[in-house]
Amino acid sequence: MRLVLKYGGTSISSAKDIQDVANYINLLSKHNEIVIVCSAISGITDDLIEISQSIKKENKLKAEQLAAKIISRHILLANQIIKKPTIRKKLLEKLNTDFLELNSLIEGMVLLGEVTPRSLDYLISFGERLSIKLISFSINDIGKNSISLTGKEVGIVTDSNFGESNPLMDTTRLRISKTIDLQFFKKIIPVVGGFTGADQYGHVTTFGRGGSDYTATIIGSCIKADEIWLMSDIDGLMTADPKIVKNAKLLKEVSYIEATEMALFGAKQIHPRTFEPLIAKKIPMKIRNSFNLKNEGTLVTHSPSLSSKNTVKCVSHIRHNGLIDIRGGTMVGTPGTAAKIFATLAKSGINVMMISQNPSESSITIVVKNTDLDKAVNALEMELLGKIIKKLEVTTDVAIIALIGSGMRGTVGVASKVFGAIEKKKVNVAMITQGSSELNLAFVVKDSDSNTAVQALHDAFELDKIN
Ligand code: ASP
Ligand code: MG
Repeated sequence: MRLVLKYGGTSISSAKDIQDVANYINLLSKHNEIVIVCSAISGITDDLIEISQSIKKENKLKAEQLAAKIISRHILLANQIIKKPTIRKKLLEKLNTDFLELNSLIEGMVLLGEVTPRSLDYLISFGERLSIKLISFSINDIGKNSISLTGKEVGIVTDSNFGESNPLMDTTRLRISKTIDLQFFKKIIPVVGGFTGADQYGHVTTFGRGGSDYTATIIGSCIKADEIWLMSDIDGLMTADPKIVKNAKLLKEVSYIEATEMALFGAKQIHPRTFEPLIAKKIPMKIRNSFNLKNEGTLVTHSPSLSSKNTVKCVSHIRHNGLIDIRGGTMVGTPGTAAKIFATLAKSGINVMMISQNPSESSITIVVKNTDLDKAVNALEMELLGKIIKKLEVTTDVAIIALIGSGMRGTVGVASKVFGAIEKKKVNVAMITQGSSELNLAFVVKDSDSNTAVQALHDAFELDKIN
């Protein structure tokens, strides 16, 4: 089989983890063609972002301290992982070239005293530049040929939307298939850095946080992989957060659309665009635990088998949000009201998580993160209060509860079962939305009620018996 295995940062955070990965890849490569995609070592991307914040605050010392911390962590890992002195020496030389470039970049940014989206992408790309070398050399150390490639080197070409770039798929496909086919032909295992690519001028770009998942599926679709495996530190997608619901179960099979919804809401964070490259080619994905390889994980496919077509597959929740009820007499029948409200919020960089408007048009209710609430209310008051808005009513600390499952589509009685179960627990519902896809039913309760609501729904739909 042709496989793309993507390792998240927590799966490669110690010397032992990396050696285990190398040994596993060694075994797997005996019968399969493998491309590895990896994230930065856990915590490194956060450190790099903190460096950029220190530069903005003109705190040169802090930026240098953080860089020194990143460098010493990688040197320590290199020394712990690699047993053969010649290979270790080569690895340290390669890492050192990156360290010099990282330090010069930081020095340059400090001198300029500014962080642009372009320089930020360049800076945060170092996490993956370093991790691929540790992994590739540890495979070399056990006697297998391997090469490390950054997103740019493997051939990922993107637009110049720094921080949130999009791959130019046709060019990317041509370049990646050429690069990877050559490595396969030479029996070399490519280790590709996730998260980054380069625009047509060669400037490094990133796909946004968690973007390595997306890199894995881009590569998988370009080389016509048979499967993509996302390796992390959890067993797969679950029926609910096991920290809240003790009898939560692992989901054996879900569809691409269900997985996309679960990625947005669920405990396992997956980059939102991850499934796009797989859909057209119907490439299956497995979400697996690198620390529990006996477990097959969750299979994400185009068409899950009949037995797994439950009405509801998962109850997830997002806590710590705020609800704003926007009211105003002149809102009724006035075209453009919603546009003004959302344009105002967008201008302040606020992400709106849920929206509902009742048919009488006298109010629009939105949900934003608690941390955005202040900014949102302020922007709406400054721009629109007394004009189209008469009154804002704010509720802090609310949770969004979402039920996900494509079997809900066209099934009568789901809503009554949901709200019946909630009513029995005497939990008040502040807002409800269901998209016309009927794939996701979401509602809002008080944060303090969220665990009760999640458990009640998990019980009502008997999700502990799902498989
Ligand atoms: N290292 C990047 C991040 O932490 C990308 C990834 O992990 O997928 O966001
Ligand atoms: Mg990650």
